[in-house]
Amino acid sequence: MSDNPPIEYDFPDIRRWEQGDAPYIHVKESGMPGPTVMLAALTHGNEVSGAIVVDELLGRGLAPRQGTLIFSFNNFEAYQRFDPNNPFKSRMIDEDFNRTWGRLDQPATTRETRRAQVVRPYVERADFLLDLHSMHDDCVPLMLCGPLDRGAELARRLGAPADIVRDRGHAAGMRMRDYGGFGDPQSDKTALLIETGQHWRASSVVVAKDVAHRFLTETGIVEASDLPADWKQPAPPSQRIVQVTHAIATKRGNFTPARRFEGQEVITKAGTVLGHDDGEPVTTPYDDCVLVMPAVNRPLRAGVTVVRLGRLI
Ligand SMILES: [Zn+2]
Repeated sequence: MSDNPPIEYDFPDIRRWEQGDAPYIHVKESGMPGPTVMLAALTHGNEVSGAIVVDELLGRGLAPRQGTLIFSFNNFEAYQRFDPNNPFKSRMIDEDFNRTWGRLDQPATTRETRRAQVVRPYVERADFLLDLHSMHDDCVPLMLCGPLDRGAELARRLGAPADIVRDRGHAAGMRMRDYGGFGDPQSDKTALLIETGQHWRASSVVVAKDVAHRFLTETGIVEASDLPADWKQPAPPSQRIVQVTHAIATKRGNFTPARRFEGQEVITKAGTVLGHDDGEPVTTPYDDCVLVMPAVNRPLRAGVTVVRLGRLI
């Protein structure tokens, strides 16, 4: 018996999209003035809900009403190595594509840095970017809007998902969504990163389609009637914004959780023990502490982030 989570939907064969403006990148020009909007999938090769969205939109021949629309399958090579018996492995090949963006001016030594250098000019063109991800653990969806106000504002205008997370990215390396103008307080460029839920849940595809629908219509690049009518879901009654304050990493991979935790669970009391890392207690630093994407419920390698902590703002 495998401990791997079930795969609840069929994966798309994306080889028909290899020939593009660059491999697995397609640029659609409207010929009218307007923003450049980019929809990216497979930044992590085993996060397939976004690939379904991009595959379907390309298959429909979706064209922008104004401006330019860019589609990308980022780490298509990792995706093409997907092995259902070892499904987590195809997240990447040599390294994490989404940690390479701070060193793309250096010579590329990995498949992921070479690919990021191909993708980079398209990311640089984009005024708006939605990067479609999913999660290792069975967590509720969340939108990572970065550290700037305009990211949080765009996430609010989309109206879903309920949880919006403001963060500064990863110490391990810059993400695509923080690259260039997207991370510049003086720029107008805005990027969002959606985590649609567990990678292979059917519900992840529903979330990816809903958020892509909201993003593409909100940016004005297409109209709702251009998109499948059943993609948009009812909006949650409200949204909340969580400011990430801490990232808790396990020193040597010896983290023992105090109990099972849910995604974006709120821990009421400061000083609550979340677990022990190498025998040292890890506690919540303030009241009403939100556990952002807790990975505490499974074995982790040394240095891996166990959970991020945040405040409701
Ligand atoms: Zn991801």
